[in-house]
Amino acid sequence: MDFPQRLIDGYSAFLAARLPVEQSRYRELAETGQHPEIMVIGCCDSRVSPEVIFDARPGELFVVRNVANIVPPYAPDEGAHGVSAALEFGVGALRVKHIVVLGHARCGGVKAFVEEAEPLSPGDFIGQWMRLMAPAAAKTPRGDLSPADYLTRLEHANIANSLDNLMTFPLLARLIEKGKIGVHGAYFGVATGELYVLDRSSGAFTRIAAEAYAKAFQAPRF
Ligand SMILES: [Zn+2]
Repeated sequence: MDFPQRLIDGYSAFLAARLPVEQSRYRELAETGQHPEIMVIGCCDSRVSPEVIFDARPGELFVVRNVANIVPPYAPDEGAHGVSAALEFGVGALRVKHIVVLGHARCGGVKAFVEEAEPLSPGDFIGQWMRLMAPAAAKTPRGDLSPADYLTRLEHANIANSLDNLMTFPLLARLIEKGKIGVHGAYFGVATGELYVLDRSSGAFTRIAAEAYAKAFQAPRF
C-alpha cells in the first residue's frame, strides 16, 4: 500500500505555508532542544488535537495522547508505562510548569466503558485500559440522568480521576504541593468548539474565552 496521498498533500501544504514561517524556529529548537512549558495529556480522538485547539507552534506543547486521556496511577513495577514515561520526561527533564488533562465530549473510550462494549480483539485492550476509570464511575451516580448527561458527567469525572492519579507520583506530588507545577483539567466540546476548565474546589467545569468565542461568530464570514 502506498504512503497516504492525504499526508503527502498535507506535507506539501505545510511546506508552502507553515515551514517558511517556522523555519528559523525549527532550527533554533533543533540546536537548543525543546523547552515546552505545558504538558497536555489528551485523548487519541482525531477531533481533539491539542496543537490545533490551542493554536500551538512547534516546541510549545509536550503532548501524550491515549484512549480517553487517562493517567494510570503510579506503579513502579516491571510493566511498560507509556504515560508514566512521558510524565517522567516532561517533569524530570523538560521541567514543564503546567500539566493539562484535556478530555472531550463524545469520547468513544468513555462510551465503551459505560456500554461495556464487546472487545474489539481477543486482547480486549480497551476494556482493560478503561477499567482505570472505575474509581471515577464509582463517584458518579447515574441517578435519573439521561444517557447523554451521564456520559458528560463521566467524561468530567474521568478528567478529575486523571488529575487525582497525577498526585500518586511522589516527585510530581511534591512539585505540585510546592506550587512548582500547576495541574488543570479541561474539556473540549467537539460539536461546538467550546472549552471548559475544571474548578477543582467546586468540581465544576467553567467555560473560558466565551467572549472570544462569541466574537468569532459575530462578523460576517464572507
Ligand atoms: Zn476520547
